[in-house]
Amino acid sequence: MSQRIAIVEKIMGANERLAEANQAMLDQAGVFGLNLMASPGAGKTSLIERTLETLGGRFRVAAVDGDIATSIDADRAAAAGAQAVQINTGGECHLDAVMLGQALAQIDLDDTDLLIVENVGNLICPANFLLGTHSSVLIASVPEGDDKPYKYPGMYQGVDALVINKIDLLPYVEFNMDYFRRGVEALNPGLVSFPLSCRTGEGISEWTAWVADQVEHLADSAQRN
Ligand code: MG
Ligand code: ZN
Repeated sequence: MSQRIAIVEKIMGANERLAEANQAMLDQAGVFGLNLMASPGAGKTSLIERTLETLGGRFRVAAVDGDIATSIDADRAAAAGAQAVQINTGGECHLDAVMLGQALAQIDLDDTDLLIVENVGNLICPANFLLGTHSSVLIASVPEGDDKPYKYPGMYQGVDALVINKIDLLPYVEFNMDYFRRGVEALNPGLVSFPLSCRTGEGISEWTAWVADQVEHLADSAQRN
């Protein structure tokens, strides 16, 4: 094994152990953690706002927003009613388990049911860093084009659900839904998906019903333990 590969494996191993520690903290407090990943502009923050609109009265929600700079996204999540923590990665193009651990220390987990982590907008490396959340969700958006599963397979392979945002733009842009879905199916067979529009609200209720199921399922299994 080359020295470079050995070092990379050591870093990934350390990240994995910290991710396990994060998940143990969430489990202990009965918090369901969701890792939202997407390219910049796909609608991560807008989906968090829509999710809070529907589920904010039912669950206590916290949001962790990862960005290279600014607190624009955490400010929006806070305005929508979440406990919000901004992580500025200072140039890093993904979140890792250390950064999430530092954010968790600033959140009252005992006063939280659902934690939404908004990863840095990027379709490459966020897939490689476990955070310790229970589910990973990828948001694709129609204007990005229908070829993204073919170009960024790693991202599509590792997620538990797919949101297809901005479906209100389908009449105006080149996007072949069958071609897109065939690419997704080859990488992640049977992946649950939610075509929706954060702008018009179409499809949002199917998405929030799925999230609510996940949160309640975790609460049920915590009670049984
Ligand atoms: Mg955002
Ligand atoms: Zn990165």
